Amino acid sequence: MWFRQDLRLVDNTAFTAAANAGPVIPVYILDDETPGDWAWGGASRWWLHKSLENLAQRLPLKVFCGRADAVLNDLIAKTGAVGVYFTRDYAPWSGALEERVKQVCEVGGTACHRYGGFLLHEPESIRNGSGQYFRVYTPFSKVCFAKGEPRPPRAAPKVTVAESDLKSLALDDLKLLPKTPDWSPGLAAHWSPGEAGAQQLLADFLGDGITRYADGRDRPDQPNTSRLSAHLHWGEISPHQVWHAARQAMDRANGSLDASGEKFLKEILWREFSYHLLHHNPSFPEKPFKPEFGDFPWADDHSGLVAWQKGNTGYPIVDAGMRELWTSGIMHNRVRMIAASFLIKDLLIAWQSGERWFWDTLVDADIASNSASWQWVAGCGADAAPYFRIFNPVLQGEKFDPRGDYVRRWVPELRDVPDEFVHKPWEMAMPPKNYPKPIVNHHLARDRALAALKTIKKETAP
Ligand code: FAD
Repeated sequence: MWFRQDLRLVDNTAFTAAANAGPVIPVYILDDETPGDWAWGGASRWWLHKSLENLAQRLPLKVFCGRADAVLNDLIAKTGAVGVYFTRDYAPWSGALEERVKQVCEVGGTACHRYGGFLLHEPESIRNGSGQYFRVYTPFSKVCFAKGEPRPPRAAPKVTVAESDLKSLALDDLKLLPKTPDWSPGLAAHWSPGEAGAQQLLADFLGDGITRYADGRDRPDQPNTSRLSAHLHWGEISPHQVWHAARQAMDRANGSLDASGEKFLKEILWREFSYHLLHHNPSFPEKPFKPEFGDFPWADDHSGLVAWQKGNTGYPIVDAGMRELWTSGIMHNRVRMIAASFLIKDLLIAWQSGERWFWDTLVDADIASNSASWQWVAGCGADAAPYFRIFNPVLQGEKFDPRGDYVRRWVPELRDVPDEFVHKPWEMAMPPKNYPKPIVNHHLARDRALAALKTIKKETAP
């Protein structure tokens, strides 16, 4: 059993099939070569270490490092395994890798068994009336709903572990944890990677946050969302488990959770849609879906990029988000949109720079959701917000963090600022001295962004 982004025992189709077929050798391979530039970032590596540690407490996991097909080739030769079982992955490099694994199996006289399970719907299985893939989310989601309920989750199988004298690396040999310096305590304080941590968050959410989800999911100052994205990304919980648990909670609530539950299921389908787009456009992480954005006159603003990364832009909601990200490896969805818009439109920095920063710092950094979301904010994606809709970071802050609780949590310099100034401290007679002044004037930056847009756009700006 070759574990990948399916680090769970419950509802893992590949693992169940392997366990039912006979004694199993559970294997994880850290492959930094195949993804090239998109090898896991720092926060992902921390999470991966913790998740593997968790899995290894329940299964005698053998750990290896190297190109996955080459390592599997070696393992087949050493063990005489009669089958290789794994869950399909949809990253742009995975199709070729899975093909090479198939060939390695053929040459080694071993059966190759690939299963779905990371998504509710295989990207090829959702088509519009003319047989094309979807470029727009709403009709995509309608077809998903019309297909009926996804299959229910399956229990963990009984498994017999095969005797093997394979020499495994120690988890520490993978060097996934940061050492000099160790910046991970903030991550450890916020997260419990692994299957049990995922189940706990799901139960917490269905017992509380979901009641406020429809109206409150945009509030970064309140705990209204599931926080399941990293667990879903690493496959510590399947989308089937999440979907059915949400449905059952809705059924138990006799209609009172319908609006929130439907909204939540629709967000799960945004994850599916991101993979649908990526599968049909493998260059999504690098190239704008709308080709005219390839000529966009981005600014080369290194100091602006650093101020944004460090949360020192002088715009409190942006800085709070960027500091939340740096400390805890996560950022609330609404704040991701505001921070991304600020980078792309107020600073005129190419969306790919932000995407890369998120790739390194998010614990849920995901090749499909990250690239689709950055393209969405940049206005160059398939079903994107128009570029000319530019978030005003002050108004966004006042609307979604009305008392400034979120800002004060992450920007201690603003703790004592009265509510009316917490999103625009520069308007105070005596602004806090230790908090930066805005690095750009939003209104001028907005005009500059719209002028830049005019140089490439056929679409009409207002
Ligand atoms: P909930 O609101 O509880 O939603 C439930 C689940 O639905 C999430 O766990 C997630 O799997 C999925 N989901 C929700 N919103 C989206 C969305 N817009 N797109 C795709 N899936 C969604 N999400 C990632 O998982 N990885 C990323 O790398 C990532 N990068 C992003 C970058 C930007 C610029 C933006 C604007 C959004 C990004 N998102 C990403 C989407 C979204 O912000 C997170 O999925 C969400 O904040 C996770 O919090 P949650 O689990 O509490 O979500």
